[in-house]
Amino acid sequence: MEVFLKTEDEINLMRRANQLVGATLAELGKHIKPGISTLQLDTIAEEFIRDHGAIPTFKGFPNPFGEPFPGSICTSVNNIVVHGVPDEKTILKDGDIISIDCGTLLDGYNGDSCYTFCVGEVAPEVKHLLKTTKESLYLGIEQAVAGKHLGDIGAAVQEHCENEGYGVIRELAGHGIGKEMHEKPQVPNYGHRGNGMSLKAGMCIAIEPMITMGDRQIWLLPDKWGIITRDGKPAAHFEHTIAIREGKAEILSTFEEIEKLEGDIY
Ligand code: MG
Ligand code: MG
Repeated sequence: MEVFLKTEDEINLMRRANQLVGATLAELGKHIKPGISTLQLDTIAEEFIRDHGAIPTFKGFPNPFGEPFPGSICTSVNNIVVHGVPDEKTILKDGDIISIDCGTLLDGYNGDSCYTFCVGEVAPEVKHLLKTTKESLYLGIEQAVAGKHLGDIGAAVQEHCENEGYGVIRELAGHGIGKEMHEKPQVPNYGHRGNGMSLKAGMCIAIEPMITMGDRQIWLLPDKWGIITRDGKPAAHFEHTIAIREGKAEILSTFEEIEKLEGDIY
């Protein structure tokens, strides 16, 4: 299994692509209110990405059936875990949550990041799911240092979320990232400490816990994109692209602007 280690010059390019993803998500955050459709959000995202000289990587990306993704972002509302297709029928309403996954290709390198937003006033137990999922992402990143193993990341995410009684999706994982959006290795959100590939400085990976409030079983929607929880309960998804270094990973994507906008909501 070949894993591409990145040079500092390549990491600089990856940082730019990922900062643009962060800026796009923050721009969308300003528009996430009851009454807006997921298609409107998609249009805003595509314009924003192209205005900044990048390509929305998700547009046209094939599913396992060879069908191209129609949108520029994935918009996954409530019980949709990931890969929700933006459309005009899905209008956000007070109390919803929406995970927006966004990818950009800028100067030959990929950015990839996801954030679950609250729409209006969200139930406290759902906010707790969001808070826990985001915490688990940072606990995973803490483990992502040279000399540790992939299993250290997965175990950190899994333990934190399962301690709260949440489900950890097994069928989907994080991934290496660089010139391609999906490179090796896969980065599961579960595992055992000390197991799996050992991590090296210069590896760039996306860590992305997908966590359910109830059972971890999922279905594929008839549109062959959206992945939903079988029990209909909500799911959260937070993702950062990071560069592995000695001592501490560098987070290349950013939630800073979104969090400024949101304030202290959990
Ligand atoms: Mg993503
Ligand atoms: Mg990803």
